[in-house]
Amino acid sequence: MRVIRASAMGYCAGVKRAMEIALRESERGSPVFTEGRLIHNPKALESLKKRGVRELDGAASALRGVINGTTVVLRAHGVSPTREAELSARGLKIADATCPKVKRNQLKTQSLAKNGFSVFLVGEKSHAEIVGLMGYADCITVETAEEAKHEAEKLFSENPRAKTAVIGQTTLATDVYLSAAEAVKEIFSDALVIDTICPATKDRQNAVRELCASVDAVVIVGGKESANTRRLYSIAEASGKAVYFIERADELPEAVFAYGTVGVSAGASTPNEIIDEVENRLLRDRECQ
Ligand code: SF4
Repeated sequence: MRVIRASAMGYCAGVKRAMEIALRESERGSPVFTEGRLIHNPKALESLKKRGVRELDGAASALRGVINGTTVVLRAHGVSPTREAELSARGLKIADATCPKVKRNQLKTQSLAKNGFSVFLVGEKSHAEIVGLMGYADCITVETAEEAKHEAEKLFSENPRAKTAVIGQTTLATDVYLSAAEAVKEIFSDALVIDTICPATKDRQNAVRELCASVDAVVIVGGKESANTRRLYSIAEASGKAVYFIERADELPEAVFAYGTVGVSAGASTPNEIIDEVENRLLRDRECQ
């Protein structure tokens, strides 16, 4: 068996930065929490837990018993300004690990809304990034082109002269975002479409497409809750190749060892050590056969 790695995969700059901030805070000696899951990877979260970094969920009740002076690290996906203010008001020290690209989208969304735009926000409604963004402005959230069209028609019937803009979750598949934006433009031809898909997302998506063309099967490594990893899986699946989605090396199925060339790709929140373990296991099992 040959193993080929995707030309772009694993930790993006935003995730790397968030992990570094959390680890740095953990070394200061005072209690450290992360607001929700810092990133979507169980193994990375486990390593933070071992260093005493605990997870604070979004509920107000979770703040009970958290002492003054505790540090709360804001997740790479960002949080709403209301939540940030709530944490500060409780005397907690904020370490903001919001990815700068997500922060830029938050501020852009806020500024568009302040300037009278109706903002269509394309993304998974329950995803932390979208939930955080919704705190910056009252947006029209849509997940698909059909939904975007429906909402745009509704807005048009209420206000045909509405100023509109389209913003997307940073980890969306480009075609999903563009088709939703196109659906809005069908109704509001002068809608502003902001390019919000992160380059790291595009690079990883393009790399997995290229990878699929030169292998017999693909292994996608990453957290099952990671939106960008799930996207890589969908792209690989669409190629028609056999695809396996795993979180850890010991989840590699027997069937993968039957292929001559196996490609490996990983989401933006997958630590390098897990990718190495997957590759090593694929190669080691080959030697054993
Ligand atoms: S994928 Fe892009 S936007 Fe998301 S955390 Fe990474 S660098 Fe930031």
